[in-house]
Amino acid sequence: MIDQFQRNIDYLRISITEECNLRCAYCMPLKWQNQNKREIPDKYLTSREIIRLTGLFETLGIKKIKITGGEPLLRKDVSYIIAGLKSISGIRQVTLTTNGIFLEEKAEALKNAGVHGINVSLDTLDEDFYCKLTGGKGNLNQVLKGIQAARRLQIPLKINAVLLKNEKEHWKNLTELLKEGIPVRFIELMPLGLGRKMEGITGEEALAQLKIMYPDLRETKKALGAGPARYFESAGLKAPVGLIDAVTNKFCTGCNRVRLTSQGILKPCLCYDYGVDLKKLLRQGKTDQEILREIKKAVYEKPRGHCFGQSDNITESKMMWQIGG
Ligand code: SAM
Ligand code: SF4
Repeated sequence: MIDQFQRNIDYLRISITEECNLRCAYCMPLKWQNQNKREIPDKYLTSREIIRLTGLFETLGIKKIKITGGEPLLRKDVSYIIAGLKSISGIRQVTLTTNGIFLEEKAEALKNAGVHGINVSLDTLDEDFYCKLTGGKGNLNQVLKGIQAARRLQIPLKINAVLLKNEKEHWKNLTELLKEGIPVRFIELMPLGLGRKMEGITGEEALAQLKIMYPDLRETKKALGAGPARYFESAGLKAPVGLIDAVTNKFCTGCNRVRLTSQGILKPCLCYDYGVDLKKLLRQGKTDQEILREIKKAVYEKPRGHCFGQSDNITESKMMWQIGG
């Protein structure tokens, strides 16, 4: 659907849980307690509710879905949800983002459910730094096994890495994956939640470093996915490098997305705490028409742009694991 600033909103990020098995330093507090993993608490949308809402979004022009979290692979019905979303006729693409720890175990079920692609969030190939960054809970080898499992099943794969500032520039070693033919996208750290307390490097700084390593690095028009990444190629790399510089290179005029949190809040923009409680409407027994009216209004009124450059204006207090990134 077209919003008030003439943007075509066709992409919905759906978070299906706030629970996570890792504690990435820029995302989730170390002391956060998970809920009982076997139960899906009442505070989260059920699979039926997610599928019903997505059907409504589809009538407004949503075509692409990203499943996120928390860690979406912790939810036992994740494949059922993907298959359900895929069965909605206008939904052309359902992809997932994961920390990769359970990917080896779940890759086949995800493939069978028809997932179109998987993003694995991995910020470094340095084992010690990875362990430290994930609050001592991550297992790099397990993530790498998950990546290989997805590759064997020929699920299109991308690595997403947040550009963190540190002396050893640990993000650079991810070029090893690029040499193996796995696309890697470098993402600027956003000043949300714990991200406000950490220091990142800009996309331009990373690009300059990459150009020193690969002097023939050139921008390519070949896009991989629905997002705002710019891509670069080099003869020394078997896959394109992506750059998502959402903070320094504001691309809000081309923004095509809205977000649905696991607790059923429709969020038109990452930066502001405004949202519509769709779970409440569903559980009050509202009709499709009544819910659609609220969705339409919120999407139409999507703000012009984020305010990451003026962090005092950020009103969103939820953290990334509550929003889904
Ligand atoms: N657990 C899954 C994962 O890590 O892919 C899905 C949820 S996670 C919140 C989604 C993405 O948000 C991850 O790629 C993560 O690196 C990113 N993220 C979290 N906090 C961020 C921040 N402050 N700035 C930029 N990206 C962030
Ligand atoms: Fe968990 Fe993903 Fe946040 Fe890391 S980035 S703590 S894996 S939700």
